Amino acid sequence: MKKPFFIVDAHQDLAWNMLTFGRDYTNPLEKTRILEKGTYIPEVTGNTMLGWDAYQDGNVGVVFSTLFAEPIRKQEGAWDKLVYRDANEAHKLYRDQVDLYYRWMDKHPDQFRLIRSGVDLREILRLWKKPLPEGAAGRPVGLVLLMEAAEGIRSLDELPEWWEAGLRFIGPAWAGTRYCGGTHEPGPLTRAGQALLECMADIGFGFDISHMDEEAALMALDLYDGVIIASHSNAAALLRGVESNRHLSDRVIHGIVERDGVIGVVPFNNFLLAGWKKGQARRELVHIDRLVAQIDYLCQLAGDSLHVGIGSDFDGIYGVEETPMEFDSIADLQKLAPLLLEKGYSEEDIANIMSGNWLRQLGKVLPEK
Ligand SMILES: [Zn+2]
Repeated sequence: MKKPFFIVDAHQDLAWNMLTFGRDYTNPLEKTRILEKGTYIPEVTGNTMLGWDAYQDGNVGVVFSTLFAEPIRKQEGAWDKLVYRDANEAHKLYRDQVDLYYRWMDKHPDQFRLIRSGVDLREILRLWKKPLPEGAAGRPVGLVLLMEAAEGIRSLDELPEWWEAGLRFIGPAWAGTRYCGGTHEPGPLTRAGQALLECMADIGFGFDISHMDEEAALMALDLYDGVIIASHSNAAALLRGVESNRHLSDRVIHGIVERDGVIGVVPFNNFLLAGWKKGQARRELVHIDRLVAQIDYLCQLAGDSLHVGIGSDFDGIYGVEETPMEFDSIADLQKLAPLLLEKGYSEEDIANIMSGNWLRQLGKVLPEK
């Protein structure tokens, strides 16, 4: 069998899932599904796509793992616990997730490790490159910390502490925040948002544009002179008729490409098929070719394969039921490779898309030590 491609996934809400649903990703995926069978969990979030064995099967060695909480106005039900009323509460929820990652990785260093530096990243890559030692169950998955919605940053003088804690990417938006307009809550980059971006660039954070309203995103593209990503976003052009500012306009895509940014495509049916309704649509309506079409669209617009990656957002309040037919777990991301080959992409292009482009951005953001 041909060697699978190495995969970097730029968006997973691991801490949020662990704290909200008690999910334990050191377990095999099937164990989580069995444990949750008959509980409310699959009802509200679907069946999990993740588990340590699935990362191994899928050759997924690096994940951008988020700090994420919601403003209370977006709370979906009593189960939706990680909600905040103000910046202080947000700060506590986000800090708790950093602490959780540290405790968890200290306990399971053979399964998950934090990537804070170039040295850390190279060690993970080395372990995934060499043959698996006799008797070893697999390799540790490296986690890069990404903050989704910057409401947890109370003031800019906190930024160095966040960097020190291992945070490497910040996305100012989810819904709208005091920094900028966001999903379903349009608006510009505010003065506080502009100051945040300037301070982030000074320290060297990567900047995640996903969830920003177009107006805010275009302002940010002009302003930010550091590393830019859209960790989990699809192209709006393939979603005609969808009334949402969640997807990237061609203008924003061009801006990201010009700045050598990378966009992570999302295999969420709601982001692949106009008219898909969570829980109501038949799964066979969406096949993996729609995800391939997203990748191809972005590569055609960019004129090369250097600006697209994967940002699965698996378990991000959607489960296997809301993914293309061909998906059962994260390991199925490997199915993209033969389809891209068929479309005329070279092995090198595919390697860029599966991991190379994210590794390039990590190379720019991570300090050497
Ligand atoms: Zn998100």
